[in-house]
Amino acid sequence: MARVQEPTVRQPLEWDSPLFLMARAQFEQSLPFADVSPMVAERLSFPERAVIMSVPLRRDDGTWQIFAGYRVQHSTVLGPTKGGVRYDPEVSLGECAALASWMTWKCALLRLPYGGAKGGIRCDVREHSPAELQRLTRRFTSELVTMIGPKTDIPAPDMATNEQTMAWMMDTYSMLKGHAVPEVVTGKPISVGGSVFRREATGAGVVMSAERACERLGWNLNERRIVMQGFGNVGGVAASELHERGATVLAVSDISGGLHSEDGLDVPALHEYAAEHGSLEGYDRCERMTNEELLELPCDILFVCAREDQLTSANAARIEARLIVEGANGPTTLEADAIFAERGIPVIPDILANAGGVTVSYFEWVQDLGRLFWDRDEIRNRLAEKMHDAFDRVWSVAEEKKITLRQAAMVAAIREVAGALEARGIYP
Ligand code: NAD
Repeated sequence: MARVQEPTVRQPLEWDSPLFLMARAQFEQSLPFADVSPMVAERLSFPERAVIMSVPLRRDDGTWQIFAGYRVQHSTVLGPTKGGVRYDPEVSLGECAALASWMTWKCALLRLPYGGAKGGIRCDVREHSPAELQRLTRRFTSELVTMIGPKTDIPAPDMATNEQTMAWMMDTYSMLKGHAVPEVVTGKPISVGGSVFRREATGAGVVMSAERACERLGWNLNERRIVMQGFGNVGGVAASELHERGATVLAVSDISGGLHSEDGLDVPALHEYAAEHGSLEGYDRCERMTNEELLELPCDILFVCAREDQLTSANAARIEARLIVEGANGPTTLEADAIFAERGIPVIPDILANAGGVTVSYFEWVQDLGRLFWDRDEIRNRLAEKMHDAFDRVWSVAEEKKITLRQAAMVAAIREVAGALEARGIYP
């Protein structure tokens, strides 16, 4: 077996943020069970490439401001890279590197022909008008024009970006190419080649994996008591799906804080309120609490669907859920994971639980390339098939190797990429 020379790039590199080191530690924890060569393990420890750019914006008042923009591509072993674009004050190279590597594992686990990428702009969307966001998005896209493309890297929405952002990206890319290229992004409006059911796909997939877990645990989903952190694209849709299936949604939260009622919240009323007011802030028809308190409420299933770093060594011992489902990427730290494993609380990991979004993004890309569109039922059924298949493979690996679901998901994913990398070899 080929040896890997020491030292390879082990000095801290620009992307070695705490979040990326956590993603790499998760990878390394799973390696002993994945049976891959040192060459493959070493190669997959690093993103393949990253760009940092400065993005100028003319504000509505005529002044100028420069924003940091990023795109990281982790792996092109299985195909073009795929991953979201987020607009958030905390976006950094290290955050994008971590999220890009999780995308590689997620796509591989779902057996999608993609590697992982992630990017974004460090900004606070609440400080910008739609016109400013449009100009920022268009300039960001033009900076990326040599890096993205239907055969190279296909962006999608993530935190604080949406269908409109993708329409602006698609239009900018198409203008620069001279013809319409809908397949350059996914999560677009249906009018420009988007897929039905893409908007709901991540939240619906989160609930599909929770339902499969309930079956394995001998529970009925409709009898479960639910706590939901995050009420955006992922958490909001997941809360509705759970409510519609008869589960009791005890509490939900967004960045303005948490709402709680032991008898169950009126989820459609919460959506109406959030649509009217922009968030749940000020909703007063139930008890209010902080996000920290919400996470510690006794419940059957805690869904963490807001952002990374929510379940940590500081609160893991006080979490009173019987099952945790990660709708967000990276919400559980390594220390918290170890505490949950010791306490026997299963965690359905992000790369499995929230893979519905990228799976329907893949369906959207395939439909755009073929210029042939499927209906909602077909997409939902194909998504359920993919989610259940991945869930069952992860569960089997966890049982066989006696490891956590996160480790098992990583093992299943690493094996997919490693098999392809062994076959391709490392160029030249
Ligand atoms: P979003 O912007 O639509 O929603 C985020 C929600 O979290 C909002 O309700 C926001 O108010 C809330 N929030 C933000 N910070 C919070 C905090 N500190 N405490 C509590 N709530 C907070 O974003 P989204 O698309 O729903 O993404 C949420 C997570 O899911 C992210 O980690 C994202 O990477 C991941 N994810 C999204 C998709 C997708 O298709 N949208 C797919 C896979 C993973």
